[in-house]
Amino acid sequence: MISPSSFKDEVRIWAATIGVEAREIHIRKMKRKWASCSSRGRLTFDPEILGLPRNDRDEKIVHELLHLKYPNHGRMFRVMLNAYLHRAEGEEIQETSIDSG
Ligand SMILES: [Zn+2]
Repeated sequence: MISPSSFKDEVRIWAATIGVEAREIHIRKMKRKWASCSSRGRLTFDPEILGLPRNDRDEKIVHELLHLKYPNHGRMFRVMLNAYLHRAEGEEIQETSIDSG
């Protein structure tokens, strides 16, 4: 379990790494999903994410941040996700969010 402020720092570090701007980071209880993002750079994460192991947090953070560049799970999205997470290409992508404009 990490603190919300530590988690937001992780998100900001990942955003800088990926080259996107996380303009707002919110932590709020969500229904049936881990996170959501808007095209304006507003990210919302479920508080349960604070209790996940580091690797799982990273996956969900990178997934949302990449949606600021790639709105869907196209080829570039998958390539970049796997590259940042140091995974083999072709690993299945689980949806973490329902993107809402
Ligand atoms: Zn997604």
